[in-house]
Amino acid sequence: MRKQIVAGNWKMNNDLAETRALISDLAKQSKISNAEVMIAPTFVCLGTALKHSSNLDVEVVAQNMHYATNGAFTGEVSASMLRSLGVQTVILGHSERRAYFNEKDNDLAKKVDAALSNNMRVIFCFGEELADRKSGNHEKVVESQIKNALFHLSDDAWESVVLAYEPVWAIGTGETATPEQAQEMHAFIRSVLASKYGNDISSEVSILYGGSVKPNNAKEIFSKPDVDGGLIGGASLNAEDFYAIVNAF
Ligand code: PEP
Repeated sequence: MRKQIVAGNWKMNNDLAETRALISDLAKQSKISNAEVMIAPTFVCLGTALKHSSNLDVEVVAQNMHYATNGAFTGEVSASMLRSLGVQTVILGHSERRAYFNEKDNDLAKKVDAALSNNMRVIFCFGEELADRKSGNHEKVVESQIKNALFHLSDDAWESVVLAYEPVWAIGTGETATPEQAQEMHAFIRSVLASKYGNDISSEVSILYGGSVKPNNAKEIFSKPDVDGGLIGGASLNAEDFYAIVNAF
C-alpha cells in the first residue's frame, strides 16, 4: 500500500524563535488521519526543529541540497551533512528552485542520485507552467521532467522516491488545480512510470499534489484515487490550517 503524506514546505520563512513557536503550535493539534506528516524548515532551523519535534509524529525534512559530497560550493549543503543532523528526507526540484536558481533536469538527476546514495528519501517536485497548460502541453512537459531526472533510476530506487506534482500556476497563487485536473495528471504520471517500471512499481509510488491546498479544498483533492497527499506551502505556516489539511484524509 502506498503511503499518504502531507508535507509542509516552510520555504524561506520562520527564524529560530518562530520555528520553536510553530512546532509548539503543531504539538497542540490532534492527528486523526494515518497520513505521514513532514515539515521542511530552512537549513538553519533544521537542528532546532529536530530537537523540538522529537516527541511529535512529524518528520523534519530539508528543502534542498547540493549533489556534491563536499568542496568549493559556497553556500551549499550536502546530503551527508543533512544525514549527520538526522535529516532523512529532502525535497528536490521545487519550481522555485528551478525558476530562481536555474536548476535543470540534469542537476536534479545528480541531486536525486546523491540523496539516494546517502540513504535519503526524495520528494521530487515537477509541474507545468501556465503557458504549458494553456497550450495543451502540460502532459508532455511533466513527462519530460520525470524522464529526464528520474528514468535512470533502478527499480529498487523507487522505494525511496515520492513524487509531488505542482502546477506552477497554482503555487502561492490561490488558484488550485481542480480535483479532476489533479486526478487526471496523477493518473497520467502513474502511466508514465508504468511504461518503464511496470504497474507494480508505479502503483506503489506516492504522488502528492501541491498548489494552494487549503483546509477548504484538501478533502476533495485527497479523495481522488491517485492523489496520495499534498505538498503544502502557505497553509503549512499555520498549525491549525496545516492539521486541518493533514486530517482531511
Ligand atoms: C509549495 O510551495 O510547494 C506550494 C504548494 O505552495 P502553496 O501551498 O502556498 O501554493
